Amino acid sequence: MIDVTLESVSKRFPRAGDTAAVDDVDLRIGAGEFFTLLGPSGCGKTTTLRMVAGFYFPSSGRIRFGAEDVTNRPPNKRDTGMVFQNYALFPHLSVAQNVAYGLKIRKVGRAESRRRIDEALGQVHLAGYGDRRIDQLSGGQQQRVALARALVIRPRTLLLDEPLSNLDAKLREETRVEIRRIQKESGTTALYVTHDQAEAMAMSDRIAVMESGRVRQVGTPQEIYHRPATAFVARFIGRSNVLDLPVVTVGPERVTVALPGGSEVPVAAPADHGLTAGATALVSVRPEHITLTSATDEGALTGRVTELEFTGMATNLLIDVAGEPVQVAAIDVPAGLGVGDQVGLSLPPERMWVVGA
Ligand code: ATP
Repeated sequence: MIDVTLESVSKRFPRAGDTAAVDDVDLRIGAGEFFTLLGPSGCGKTTTLRMVAGFYFPSSGRIRFGAEDVTNRPPNKRDTGMVFQNYALFPHLSVAQNVAYGLKIRKVGRAESRRRIDEALGQVHLAGYGDRRIDQLSGGQQQRVALARALVIRPRTLLLDEPLSNLDAKLREETRVEIRRIQKESGTTALYVTHDQAEAMAMSDRIAVMESGRVRQVGTPQEIYHRPATAFVARFIGRSNVLDLPVVTVGPERVTVALPGGSEVPVAAPADHGLTAGATALVSVRPEHITLTSATDEGALTGRVTELEFTGMATNLLIDVAGEPVQVAAIDVPAGLGVGDQVGLSLPPERMWVVGA
């Protein structure tokens, strides 16, 4: 098991102007860790993964596997297993022949190859499928063959680029559990690319959230969900309200802000929040943490329902609070509540968190 380190890695493409596709990225992926690059389309995830694989070389910075500097080493000298969105299998070859591909290139002997192919197919729960043709398999099974092909060479790192994108919603959920299990069993350090935050949260030990070529935050799914560093991260992971609230007093890891309507609440803030009294804080609060109360409750924050959507698990509401739209996801709503009605809102200070711009 080895760790993977990126030190000030940037990538500029010729003819792509001055903007860097990947801009000064520092990351350390622990040995055996399942680490995900998450972000919207075009944020630089795939380019980062491709530099770790060796398909692109960085314009500047270093990449290390353990203590070894692999920055300018070609892909076939890095011992990485790759899994792609489109599987990249050979359709005219059998499952076993596909899995055998990397072993052939490495000139592994016949008996040893057979043993390792059986082992890899067992790992992905496809024992006995060796003689099947690729086009006789479902999408999910094809993706597991691709995973077996990557694992059979016993790579030092497993690199996966949106491997579930071509599967339907249910199969995606099943296969993500499988991939996570197989990665943990094999102990291989994994770097995973996705734009799907639910997938990233469910699978990863840690996540790096990227925006415009830069890493905005690295943390466990829980840290990123409960303590988003910026308004972008708060909105990209799940849904979030990011409210502009005036700061009344400041403390080391806490600021007191005034809610619309006047009541003052203390909320947690990062140690380096840099806010002063009179400034405006950006405060994140998740729709599912806000509860509806009666509009007539004394001191309640009130607003008018402008949208209401029943999703089965919850009712999503958009509430206009003094001109500011606030999203609420409520499990229970008062019977007969509709668009135009006044409601009270209770914002829990312990669930509110100051974010950066
Ligand atoms: P997606 O989820 O859509 O694949 P991504 O986050 O993986 O997006 P990248 O594919 O890494 O993003 O692209 C990052 C930026 O670099 C984009 O602006 C893209 O247009 C640009 N880019 C990527 N590859 C090249 C290339 N070969 N030549 C020029 N520009 C490129």
